[in-house]
Amino acid sequence: MEKQISRRAFLKGGMAAAAGVAAAGMPGSEALAEPDERKQLATLIDISKCIGCEGCVEACSEANAGKYPDPQKPFPKMYPGRVPVEDWSEKQDVNDRLTPYNWLYIQRADVEINGEEKELTIPRRCMHCVNPPCVKLCPWGAAQQQENGISRIDSDLCLGGSKCKKVCPWDIPQRQTGTGLYLDILPSMAGNGVMYKCDRCYDRVADGELPACIEACPEDVQIIGPREDIIKKAHALAKEINGYIYGEAENGGTNTIYVSAVPFEDLNQAVEQGNGKPHLKAVEDTMAQANNLAAAMIIAPLAGIAAAVGKFFKGSKTVSKGA
Ligand code: SF4
Ligand code: SF4
Ligand code: SF4
Repeated sequence: MEKQISRRAFLKGGMAAAAGVAAAGMPGSEALAEPDERKQLATLIDISKCIGCEGCVEACSEANAGKYPDPQKPFPKMYPGRVPVEDWSEKQDVNDRLTPYNWLYIQRADVEINGEEKELTIPRRCMHCVNPPCVKLCPWGAAQQQENGISRIDSDLCLGGSKCKKVCPWDIPQRQTGTGLYLDILPSMAGNGVMYKCDRCYDRVADGELPACIEACPEDVQIIGPREDIIKKAHALAKEINGYIYGEAENGGTNTIYVSAVPFEDLNQAVEQGNGKPHLKAVEDTMAQANNLAAAMIIAPLAGIAAAVGKFFKGSKTVSKGA
């Protein structure tokens, strides 16, 4: 029922402006702009409803397979060889962590609730931060944020240097070697690939559709709507179940709000963590740190240059293909 209300609200009820926002324009110009939280879309994830069926994971793959990398092999030799090859192309079916071919996975936590052992299942993907450091600190403007809060990495501009992953408090973006702009301009240098992560089905959202994972879920675990409404619903749900909220304040606020009957400190202890398996710790506001803001100010002009180079190479490819 909640999803029906959510879907109707999403398609008709005052969401047109946010849902119809086109992709961000010229990178670099928007990188330093302060995001307007009132226009951002957020999702509420009710952990207690998730049954771990992975329908959302499959739906994500089906909806986004066309955006996955198609690397050229053999990979160019790197000088110096300090940047590791990261090749997931032969492991595309791995779905127990984030990879360039798996933007959503189900994290599992064995916990005790009211004296009973229980396994909780938690859908994990990009948190879509309100003020995303991956966007603000990408030197090439390849990571961008739309006015509706969706952040995504432009695979035509990304050089795979993984700054986005280094500054992401959850290490979300994942690299695939042997694809992207670096092959044209710096085949033995740069970051040797492209970074990938959940783009919140920005294309579906722009068409007024729900993200694939939300639409596919049989238990209506997620709802989506304006951030203000989602925060209110999260508080109401937390009050009802005497529960806890994650994402309202983390990293200065995210557009993914989890509600759980179990404290997130306990969940964080219970989940498996590592590369592609994010934590559930409390997170300070990365962008509030003066050093990072200063870095953003310095690197922003590079975004325009990268965009121009990317468009040039993309244009040449289109011309030569058509010739
Ligand atoms: S489809 Fe829904 S219930 Fe199934 S794993 Fe995903 S969020 Fe959980
Ligand atoms: S969670 Fe990480 S990748 Fe996602 S928007 Fe925030 S900083 Fe970027
Ligand atoms: S919003 Fe879209 S891209 Fe992101 S996890 Fe859900 S289905 Fe995948």
